[in-house]
Amino acid sequence: MLFFNELSFWERKEYLDEIDFAIIGSGIVGMSTAIFLKKRYPTAKITILERGYLPTGASTKNAGFACFGSPTELYDDLQKNTEHAVWETFLLRYQGLQTLFSLVEKKKINYKPCASWDLIAENQLDIPEDFIAYLNSKTEQLINDNSVYSDDSELLASFGFKGFQKAYKNSLEGSIDTGKLITELYKKTVENGIQTLFGINLESYSESEKEVSLATNFGELKCAHLLICTNGFATKFQQLDLQPARAQVLITKPIQDLKFDGTFHFDAGYYYFRTIENRVLIGGGRNLNFEGETTENFGTTNQIQDSILSLLKENILPNSPFEVDYSWSGIMGVGNEKSPIIKKVNNRVAFGVRMGGMGVAIGSEVGKKLATIF
Ligand SMILES: Cc1cc2nc3c(=O)[nH]c(=O)nc-3n(C[C@H](O)[C@H](O)[C@H](O)COP(=O)(O)OP(=O)(O)OC[C@H]3O[C@@H](n4cnc5c(N)ncnc54)[C@H](O)[C@@H]3O)c2cc1C
Repeated sequence: MLFFNELSFWERKEYLDEIDFAIIGSGIVGMSTAIFLKKRYPTAKITILERGYLPTGASTKNAGFACFGSPTELYDDLQKNTEHAVWETFLLRYQGLQTLFSLVEKKKINYKPCASWDLIAENQLDIPEDFIAYLNSKTEQLINDNSVYSDDSELLASFGFKGFQKAYKNSLEGSIDTGKLITELYKKTVENGIQTLFGINLESYSESEKEVSLATNFGELKCAHLLICTNGFATKFQQLDLQPARAQVLITKPIQDLKFDGTFHFDAGYYYFRTIENRVLIGGGRNLNFEGETTENFGTTNQIQDSILSLLKENILPNSPFEVDYSWSGIMGVGNEKSPIIKKVNNRVAFGVRMGGMGVAIGSEVGKKLATIF
């Protein structure tokens, strides 16, 4: 492996010299930021530095829900935050999806407007009776649609589920193919002349009046501006209201005669499942061990895998035999507040982090805002 100071004239000139904007992290936020920066500064040299051989956080690991708020999640949020903050985040998610679709064609990321259902277990407290009407009155004000949410419990029997008393539908949510999204964003960066250097880990940085020096695993690099889009991994660079949060999922092998299709939320968004190519992808259970799942380390645990498997066996596929194919995890960035952090911390350094469990929806919009910060 060659360090930067061992590279050729051509390599230094092409890849390392005179970087106007260095972006750390090639997830949804990093790539969206780069694309929007290029729109704003067409002649700028923009380089993304990614420590992994693939993006290695959450953007290639997530469940691919194009979602902006299920009834129980919104109800839970309203108990913990001001009404203003909750609806501001709702709007950011809704508009964020439109921004995403302005970057990548829906059909290229297999976007399906399949709707979502928020399930209430038999032993769980239902949301108040007038809550759906309240939600629709808010959506009418904000997005000019007064029929986004409805009680769709009659459909429960046809899904073949067991142990749920209610299903609330969100008619505007959908699903995407997570892998295809990252491929399409990456293609867009290449088309725009944005370079991504994989395998480069930013260790630290220091800012002077004229530039920012980056200490990496391959030596020192300089850039005029630095944008840190490392989400759950950003805490080592700056003290922020931010923590890493691991999320675990599993996927079944293809199942014959699956009775349902779409995206589903359960328990204020702590559990979620969807169909993909006749398989079921299910995740959640972080609330079983918040402390243990506050980690930057990838991996799965028996406690959480057992809980999602049991939900799958007992409640979601009670009458269909299935096999688990494999499991994986991803690392999100969360904080006490749910909204993202888009913040300039010095003259030449800014952060775009804390996407929570909603980076598919808000990541591109965060990139768009971050690209205007200097
Ligand atoms: C299992 C799971 C399911 C999810 N489901 C959904 C969903 O259905 N819908 C939804 O909206 N959201 C979902 N999310 C959340 C969503 O995936 C994230 O919010 C989003 O991907 C965050 O994007 P990002 O670009 O901010 O961060 P990331 O995708 O984490 O990208 C950060 C990048 O920075 C790189 N990096 C870190 N440190 C360094 C360094 N020092 N030097 C160089 N590079 C570095 C990492 O390798 C990584 O590639 C889910 C997340 C997980 C884990």
